[in-house]
Amino acid sequence: MRDKLKNLKYVLKKFHEDNTVIKIDNLLIGEDFLMIAGPCSVESEKQIIEIAQSVKQAGGNMLRGGAYKPRSSPYSFQGLGETGLQYLKKAKEETGLPIITEILDVRDIDAIGQCADIFQIGTRNMQNFSLLKEMGKTKFPVLLKRGFAATIEEWLNCAEYILNEGNPNVILCERGIRTIETYTRNTLDLSAVAVLKKLTHLPVVVDPSHATGRKELVETMALCAIVAGCNGLEVEVHNYPEKAMSDSEQQIYVKDYVKLVKKVNILLSTVNKMEEV
Ligand code: PEP
Ligand code: MN
Repeated sequence: MRDKLKNLKYVLKKFHEDNTVIKIDNLLIGEDFLMIAGPCSVESEKQIIEIAQSVKQAGGNMLRGGAYKPRSSPYSFQGLGETGLQYLKKAKEETGLPIITEILDVRDIDAIGQCADIFQIGTRNMQNFSLLKEMGKTKFPVLLKRGFAATIEEWLNCAEYILNEGNPNVILCERGIRTIETYTRNTLDLSAVAVLKKLTHLPVVVDPSHATGRKELVETMALCAIVAGCNGLEVEVHNYPEKAMSDSEQQIYVKDYVKLVKKVNILLSTVNKMEEV
């Protein structure tokens, strides 16, 4: 085993024979296939509730939506903040879907904890060590996205920060990395999924939306991610993608999410059969 993995004490399979399973309501993440879907940003109460209902009807089992948005430009929409959290809470009350939303700042842990079932730490904060440590002091499940220029070892060390503080509830999310390729927004590193499934006991989710940046590629890469062995998908879905306040190019239409879920279920039954071989 290579050097940088030598210091790890928690995240590797050899320290934890059974795969980690995180229970949220009736959902067993790591066993049940996680289908997170929803808009990039929470934009209004009507928007998030409509999308939540569509996600639920399509067969998604968790709602995403950013209330605090990490935008490249300070002049872009920054999210609705606490108001957005209130809307997410209403969407959960309406549909029963558990909620995942991004945290940018340790000062928001309590407010987000009132509404979210999973805290997302985004690519830009993967190595925000004080945030990782603070989340480690809670028991809230954390979905830790891969930094867009991070190696697998660096990423696993960040997960280790959370577990080392006493919080075992970590999910890893591959969301693409920067490479020489510019046609796609990032390059989805599916080999990382295969590597992580061998190395770690933590659930691994794939985000084909931020990985590709193009709605026409989301379905193909989502299906490929399942073959690579992921435990779930996080997909950006919008009722009117062309009007979205962020990431409008990559958010898929509800009708396409309905199709995607059907294809995911067909593929999962084949992948599960292959595991018996
Ligand atoms: C997101 O999921 O809303 C997001 C900002 O993703 P990433 O951190 O992967 O860019
Ligand atoms: Mn987005």
